Amino acid sequence: MSALTDLIYGGANAVAGLTEAAVAEAIRELGADKKAAFPDTAYFLPTIYAATGAKVQKLGDLPACVDVLKSLITNADDLGAALNAGLATAVGAEIIEALKYARSPAPYEGEGGIGFVPDPIIRSLGVPLVTGDIPGVAVVLGRASDPADAVRVVRDYQNKGILTFLVGPVIDQISSGGVRVGLDYRVVPLGHDVTSVIHVVTVAIRAALIFGNVQPGDLAGLLAYTKQRVPAFVNTFGELDAVTVSAGAGAIALGFPVITDIDLGENQVPGALVSVCDHSETVKTSLELRGIKIKAKKVELPVSFASAFEGEIIRKADCYAEFYSNKNPTCELVSFRKSEEVTDHKIEVIGGDIPENAGPSEIIELPLATIVDVYGAKMSADFEPVIERRIHSWFNYIEGVMHTGQRNQFRIRFSRDSFEKGLRLRHLAEVLYAMITDEFGSIVDKCQVTMITDGARVRQILEEEAMPRYRYRDERLASLTDESVDTFYTCILCQSFAPSHCCVVTPERLGLCGAVSWLDAKATYELNPAGPSQPIPKEGLIDSRLGAYKAVNEIVKEATHGALEEVTLYSLVENPMTSCGCFECICGLMPEANGVVVVNREYAGMTPTGMTFGELASMTGGGVQTPGFMGHGRHFIGSKKFISAEGGLIRLVWMPKELKEDVAERVNKTALELYGIENFTSMICDETIATDSEGVLAFLAEKGHPALGLEPIM
Ligand code: SF4
Ligand code: ZN
Repeated sequence: MSALTDLIYGGANAVAGLTEAAVAEAIRELGADKKAAFPDTAYFLPTIYAATGAKVQKLGDLPACVDVLKSLITNADDLGAALNAGLATAVGAEIIEALKYARSPAPYEGEGGIGFVPDPIIRSLGVPLVTGDIPGVAVVLGRASDPADAVRVVRDYQNKGILTFLVGPVIDQISSGGVRVGLDYRVVPLGHDVTSVIHVVTVAIRAALIFGNVQPGDLAGLLAYTKQRVPAFVNTFGELDAVTVSAGAGAIALGFPVITDIDLGENQVPGALVSVCDHSETVKTSLELRGIKIKAKKVELPVSFASAFEGEIIRKADCYAEFYSNKNPTCELVSFRKSEEVTDHKIEVIGGDIPENAGPSEIIELPLATIVDVYGAKMSADFEPVIERRIHSWFNYIEGVMHTGQRNQFRIRFSRDSFEKGLRLRHLAEVLYAMITDEFGSIVDKCQVTMITDGARVRQILEEEAMPRYRYRDERLASLTDESVDTFYTCILCQSFAPSHCCVVTPERLGLCGAVSWLDAKATYELNPAGPSQPIPKEGLIDSRLGAYKAVNEIVKEATHGALEEVTLYSLVENPMTSCGCFECICGLMPEANGVVVVNREYAGMTPTGMTFGELASMTGGGVQTPGFMGHGRHFIGSKKFISAEGGLIRLVWMPKELKEDVAERVNKTALELYGIENFTSMICDETIATDSEGVLAFLAEKGHPALGLEPIM
C-alpha cells in the first residue's frame, strides 16, 4: 500500500473509532431521544442527508450512520477507495460536531470560530458567487511555520474577493496578524478542532441541495455537483497528521484540490493533491488548480481595493472625514451627456480635497457631489441609474471607506487609517472611472468624474440638476408596467448553481434575488448580447390572468435546456416561476386562511405554515416548479402583479414585522389603488401577534381581512 493510502486509512479508522465511542458516550449521557441537529438548517446533518438520504433527528439515529461510515472504509489498496474513506472522515467529523450541538445550544460561543453556517447565509452567497463577485472559496487549515506567510496568503485571497474559511491554529495566526475577520470581510474562522472543517464542507453540500436540485441519497450526483460547480480548494499549513490527510481525501473526493506546504514527493496526485513549499506560490497554484480566474482591477490606490471589503464598517471613533446628507448637501449623479460635453478620463476635485489638519479626535464634515458624466453611442438615459447604483459597491470595495445610501441621501466615511495612508477624494473619482469603463465599457465610450466639496456649488447642482433628474427617473419607473413594454428578459446567471433555473424579469416583477430589475436586465443585454439576459418579445398571449405567453414558454424552454416547458408570470399555483435558491423572500400558501404568507430570509422564527423560512425554502429551489411555493424579491410584494392570478395582494395574511414595515408604503399604496383598502398592512398579521394558525385566523377575523371572503385559493 502507498504511504498516502496508508495515511488516509489510518486517519479514517481513527475517526471511525472516535466517532463510535463519542456517539455511545453521548447516548449514555443524554439519552437516545436527545435532539441531534445543527441550528437553522432544513437539511439535518447535511453530509449524511445528502449522501444517504437519512434524516438524523436524535442521538439514537446516529449509530446507524456510524455503520455507514465504517462501510466506506474498505482498506482496499486503491486511491479511489481511499478517497471514499476520506468521505467517511467527513461523516465522522459531522457527527462529532453534531454532538457538540447536542451538548450545548451554542458550542462555538467564545471559541473564536463560527461553527455551523446557517442556511440563510448560504442562500445569500448565491448571487455574489454566480456574478463572480466571490470568485472562489478557500479553506485554510493547520499552523504555518511562519505566521506572516499565512497572513500574506489570506490577505491575498481577501484582496481577490475569495471567501476564506479558517480551521485550526491558523485562526489565531491570522487574527493576531491584523487581518480583519468575519463574514463581512470574507475571512471566516470556523473552529479550532480539525473536525470543524465539516462546516465548510456542508456549505458545498447544501449548495448542491439548495441550488442544484441534487436529491438526498444521490451520492454520485452530489460529488459531480461539488466538483463541477463549487469553486473551492484547500490549503494546509504545517505538519499533516493522519486525520488531516483523510479529511483532505474527503475534500478531493468532493472535487476540491488540496495544496499542502509539506513535500509529499511521489505521493502527490496531479491536479488533486499538490505540494507547494514556497508560500509565495500558494495562492497562484491554488487558483490555477481550481481554474479560478481573477479579473485584474486597474486601480492604483494607497489602500486595498476588493469586494471583500464591501461589508466593512467604519465606526465614529475610527472616522477621519464624513460626507453625510443629514449634515451637509450631497448628491450622486450619473448623467448621459452629449459627446462634446465629456472629456474622457477628466478627473476634477472642486472646492478642495479632504483637509489634512483634523485634530486627533475631530471628524471633518463636508458636503459632497459626485458627478459622473458619460457618453456612449449605445448609452441610454435608462442606464444612468443602473450605473449610479453601482457607486455604492465600488466605494465600499475601497479599504477604509464606508458608503451607505444613494442619490441625495448617503453617508460616506473615510477611516483615519486610510486617510493616513494617503487616500483622498480624487482616488474615489479614479475608482469610478476605472470601474465604469471596465464594467460598462460596451456602452460607455467616454467618462469624466467631478467631486465637489464646495457647499454652495453642491446645493446648486442638487437643486437644479440632481433632484429634477431623480424625479424624472421615478416617474419613468412608475410608468414602466408590464403592459407598457413589448419585451421581457430572461436572467440565467444562477444557472452556474441551479442549472435548470431561469428568471423571467418584467417591469413589475424583478428577479427573485432582488438584484435584477427589468432595466438591469435590459442593460445586461445591451452590454453583452450573448450574455445571461436575453430578450423575450411579448408575443403569443395564452392567458392574461396567469401571465402566460407562448414566447415566454419557448424562450424559457430553450434557456433551461428543456427542463421547463411552461411558466406563468403571475401565478403561485399554476406553473409558477422556478426558484434557484437565492430568493430574498418566499411566498407559501396558508390554505386555512385562504391566503398566503411571505417570509424573508432574515427571519429565523416560525411561520403560521408550521415551517421556518429555511424549511419553506427547502421545498422550493433547485430550478424546479413547486406550485404553492415561490421565491421572489422583496420589491415584488408591493407590485400590482404580485400573485395577481390568485387575486393579488389581498391574499397576503402574514409577514414578519420587519418585512411588513419595510414594504408597507408600497403595499398600502397598491392595496388602496387596486382594492380601495386603506392601510392594508394593519390587517396583515405578524410574529408579534401570532405564529400559530388559530391565532392568525382570529386576528384576520377581527380585522375583517378581505382574504377570508375570497373564493378558495385552491
Ligand atoms: Fe439569479 Fe434570477 Fe437574480 Fe438572475 S435574476 S441573478 S437568475 S436570481
Ligand atoms: Zn439565484
